[in-house]
Amino acid sequence: MSSSVTVAAPAKINLQLGVGAARADGFHTLATVYQAIGLYDEVTVTPAESTTLTVVGEGVDVSDVPTDSTNLALRAAALLASRAGVDDAGVSMTIHKRIPVAGGLAGGSTDAAAALVACDALWGTRTSQQDLLSLAAELGSDVPFCLVGHTAGGSGRGELVHAVEDAGSYWWVVALSDRGLSTPAVYAEFDRRHAGTQVAEPEVSADLLAALATGDTVRLGAALTNDLEAPALTLRPALADLLELGGRPPSLGALLSGSGPTCLFLAADEGDARKIRDVLRAAGTAALVAPGPVPGAHVVSSL
Ligand code: ATP
Repeated sequence: MSSSVTVAAPAKINLQLGVGAARADGFHTLATVYQAIGLYDEVTVTPAESTTLTVVGEGVDVSDVPTDSTNLALRAAALLASRAGVDDAGVSMTIHKRIPVAGGLAGGSTDAAAALVACDALWGTRTSQQDLLSLAAELGSDVPFCLVGHTAGGSGRGELVHAVEDAGSYWWVVALSDRGLSTPAVYAEFDRRHAGTQVAEPEVSADLLAALATGDTVRLGAALTNDLEAPALTLRPALADLLELGGRPPSLGALLSGSGPTCLFLAADEGDARKIRDVLRAAGTAALVAPGPVPGAHVVSSL
């Protein structure tokens, strides 16, 4: 048994987010391609008498992150403990947050995936990848992908993850907003726009898959799409100017990340990514550069 385990939890982006009709359970059918990028939270667990959570913001506002049992990372630890029959399941958990909260980058989901990996290692429960994936799916639609990372397809409500061939490595510019956007509010606006119409079944674009299979960055830039972009722009019109500014050359493509408000720009290389980042910063927008794809939640230190 370890005395402390730290897991890196990468942010996720959607290269395509195809959204279908709301299902009877309220979730929307998705056809998506995920990618994990090199922007990380870190989740550390150590054994303790009773469970506690500390959230430390590193350049991000963490005032909206709950530190009680509703935090998704603590729910993940509790779920694993109950399924694996762990008796002494108290943990002192610390999350170092660099992923903006409510930013459309799955920060809470990736913390939950990291908590599963960290507690599995701490308790020596040796849970199979298959079982971790099904626990992850119970916790949230994006959590299974956050376990596997790299580039992957997602169907169902996003929780059914499948392999996608990706021969490339990419540089992204991540433009942050100082206020989050509520995912349920963006889906509600999507529903309002489609009220009374038949929403087509979403499908992943063949062009996007071909671009990934060959690692063709220019083709990938042209194939990026997000069905939540229009509803998010209705709720936050200023994002249109941000997408336009960051999308100017040398950017190869621009899109909203998940349900927003984070915006993403694809660059040909790290140098171009820095140029786009600097243009955004000069206009007063916080922006950073991140590579992708990267592995999913993984142990970085075990003492
Ligand atoms: P999603 O698209 O999955 O909603 P997001 O990146 O837009 O993801 P998150 O950063 O996951 O949003 O935060 C959404 C809300 O989840 C927060 O406002 C917060 O109240 C709650 N939450 C619960 N646990 C966490 C966590 N570990 N980190 C961040 N937020 C959390």
